[in-house]
Amino acid sequence: MNGIWNEQQQAIRAHYLAVGRDLVRPTSALRDRELGFDRELWRALGATGLFGVHMPARFGGQGLGIWEFSAALEGFSEGCQDMGVLVSFVAQVALVQSALLSYGSEEQLQRWLPPLISGEKIGCFAITEQGCGSDVRSLKLAARRDGSGYRLNGLKWNITNAPVADICMTFARLEEAGANAISCFITETAKPGLTQSAPFELMGNRGTPIGSLSFDEVALDADSLINGEGQGLRVLYFGFLVERIFTGVVISGCMQPLIDECLQYSLKRQAFGRPISDNQYVQGHIVQAYTQLELLRGVVIRGLNELEQGRDCSTLASIIKMLASEALHDACLNAMRIHGNYGYRRDHYYERLLRDSIGLFFAGGTSEIHKHVIWTNLVAEAQSGGKHKDDLRLDAYTGEGAAA
Ligand SMILES: Cc1cc2nc3c(=O)[nH]c(=O)nc-3n(C[C@H](O)[C@H](O)[C@H](O)COP(=O)(O)OP(=O)(O)OC[C@H]3O[C@@H](n4cnc5c(N)ncnc54)[C@H](O)[C@@H]3O)c2cc1C
Repeated sequence: MNGIWNEQQQAIRAHYLAVGRDLVRPTSALRDRELGFDRELWRALGATGLFGVHMPARFGGQGLGIWEFSAALEGFSEGCQDMGVLVSFVAQVALVQSALLSYGSEEQLQRWLPPLISGEKIGCFAITEQGCGSDVRSLKLAARRDGSGYRLNGLKWNITNAPVADICMTFARLEEAGANAISCFITETAKPGLTQSAPFELMGNRGTPIGSLSFDEVALDADSLINGEGQGLRVLYFGFLVERIFTGVVISGCMQPLIDECLQYSLKRQAFGRPISDNQYVQGHIVQAYTQLELLRGVVIRGLNELEQGRDCSTLASIIKMLASEALHDACLNAMRIHGNYGYRRDHYYERLLRDSIGLFFAGGTSEIHKHVIWTNLVAEAQSGGKHKDDLRLDAYTGEGAAA
């Protein structure tokens, strides 16, 4: 999003671009081939301060705001071009850390945030089950009161970081809480009765460890409950909101070098005695990707503004997530077309990025569900005279809150 960053943010962006390029990118293909998550790399990234750019200094963060974090994230994404690491990163930082910061008690923040921010521990955010994905309200993982605490039983499925996570934020149905039974719990994964699967064998995002978590009479203390009994959906939707906007930042970082490289290749590659860029069909592939990227940047900037103002911008967040995942997929496919047989080779990174981009159709909600969210919000706004809902706790993102 060149042109919007001030001097400090440009320096942050450049710093994390170098971190992504030098620390992550050289080993991306290896992690993809070998289903590899590298804990040492995670720790090294933690040591750069990346997980805590916008987290309060008293928990080990840098105490900066969301624009500085976005500059860092965009630079890091551009430098690493590694959706494996980026999906893991977004799951921890945008989902777990953000939701915790906004809805956790001071004691919970002090206990859980510092090891996540330092990179010593890995977090996951577990909603999906075998019987429920898009329809999050139908989740079945069962919680029941047990003395002063709770017991959890059931299975979470297809969760980013689950095979390697030390800390899990999970959503369960606590029937005793009444109609709004969905409640949010945070726990270490090293607990009797809690089992982590091996990474699932997936088509893409293979550098991201994705798997299941099985809960068998897992005992949690009262302080594991986040935001009160039956108040889990707020935490969940808040996490979604932040995740969708930051996914837009990640993808705008990934797309720019792809477009630059396609442009250069098309100017050099000859066919029929002239550069392939002389053909409008080829130009069209690049123009389409660039246009989508510019549109994406525009809505991401609006989304970040809304977040900073503390507004519930779920319509915008859905537009961002849908546009971002579709734009990345289209751009990767077009990059492969431009590169012909070279793009189709396993040793070329477009092949990996294309497989990864398909995973982004599902992670953070499908495009169909985003259309559904946009439609539902449009109708609600029309019926309420177009008023913003201001009921999400976004104060942690307004700069001062982050620095506290
Ligand atoms: C890479 C990756 C990472 C993930 N990480 C996590 C994670 O960290 N935590 C987590 O909890 N989950 C995670 N997931 C799971 C993800 O959130 C779900 O896959 C997603 O919500 C869709 O659910 P589903 O796969 O069960 O599909 P379903 O809900 O079964 O949907 C199947 C199809 O029906 C369509 N559909 C369903 N309902 C409607 C409707 N009302 N209107 C229109 N179309 C509809 C969907 O769009 C989809 O095309 C991850 C998935 C992937 C691929």
